[in-house]
Amino acid sequence: MNTDKKNIWIVGAGVTGLTTGVRLLQEGHSVTIVAKEFSPNTTSDIAAAIWFPFKVNPRAKALEWSRFTYTKLEGLLNTPEAGVSMTSSLRLLSDPSRVPWWTNALPKNRIRKATTNELPKGYEAGYQMEVPLIEVPQYMRYLYNQFVQLGGKMIQKIVVDLDELLVDDRWVINCTGLGARQLVNDPALFAIQGQILHVKSEEPLPTISDNEGGDIAAYIIPRKNYYVLGGTAFNNEYSTQPKEEISKEIWARCEAIVPQLKNAEYINTVVGLRPARKQLRLEKEPHKRIIHNYGHGGAGFSVSWGCAEAVAQLVAKASVSLIAA
Ligand SMILES: Cc1cc2nc3c(=O)[nH]c(=O)nc-3n(C[C@H](O)[C@H](O)[C@H](O)COP(=O)(O)OP(=O)(O)OC[C@H]3O[C@@H](n4cnc5c(N)ncnc54)[C@H](O)[C@@H]3O)c2cc1C
Repeated sequence: MNTDKKNIWIVGAGVTGLTTGVRLLQEGHSVTIVAKEFSPNTTSDIAAAIWFPFKVNPRAKALEWSRFTYTKLEGLLNTPEAGVSMTSSLRLLSDPSRVPWWTNALPKNRIRKATTNELPKGYEAGYQMEVPLIEVPQYMRYLYNQFVQLGGKMIQKIVVDLDELLVDDRWVINCTGLGARQLVNDPALFAIQGQILHVKSEEPLPTISDNEGGDIAAYIIPRKNYYVLGGTAFNNEYSTQPKEEISKEIWARCEAIVPQLKNAEYINTVVGLRPARKQLRLEKEPHKRIIHNYGHGGAGFSVSWGCAEAVAQLVAKASVSLIAA
């Protein structure tokens, strides 16, 4: 238990804010989350959500944070209310000679090259991986319950100026995702639009992805009662209106790698905006009790615990430097 107990307000109640809140409560701090929207109305609620460091930078840090999160999520496998399971995921590659950077994020015994007979027609290479899969509504509820059980408080409110929250000795953690663009006037933060489909299938479908196709990838991710078909990754596209022609293209690309999809039943289409940055922003503001934790791109779930840990360390380090000063 931390003897230097702080009063901390977190802005944002997506996966980043909730995970950071739980982690800081575990350190013994007093934590309140202030947010405009709570689950199920955040971007986090739209995520697929499979563990994978997709569209997140800087790579060295993303590796460290996603590795840490992998282990944390694995640790939740025996907690049924968390909604975390492991899935065998086949990731297809267009260039067999290339070893992708993210292969180092997995434990060695959880990743291997796919054999030829595991690959769909037309593909020469891929990786078969064991990765955590998150049932989002259940997991968001689990994080919320953890937060409340540990003594966290919630306030619904739009924050227009972080400095206004710096009352007395309070610390503020900015976990506002794409909202930070306006809140802290950050032009480096941009949306990567993701359109996905939900479908039902009587036949079991594999967890598979081909992300080599540019802005429109093909991936299938199982959820408890349906499958997610993805999806787009359009930089600087801010519309959340689904486009029918894009849905058709996503379905066609997915069916090309998993023909059983032709018998699936369409449920709906969802569009979300990933909060992306060339470099995820996780830092303390100089001379202020403000820490930023936003810009997780397509990997908010996959790096969540690693980033929360980094925030907890920044808070602890700030205390030490204050004592030393
Ligand atoms: C289609 C799609 C698929 C995805 N799939 C995956 C996946 O498989 N795996 C994965 O790891 N990630 C995935 N992601 C990415 C993931 O969803 C995001 O990285 C993650 O949700 C970001 O979480 P966050 O908590 O930072 O932001 P958000 O979930 O957007 O939460 C931001 C919070 O801040 C609040 N807020 C914002 N501005 C203000 C303000 N001014 N005042 C008060 N509150 C404010 C909001 O109301 C909200 O509570 C996917 C995303 C999309 C769109």
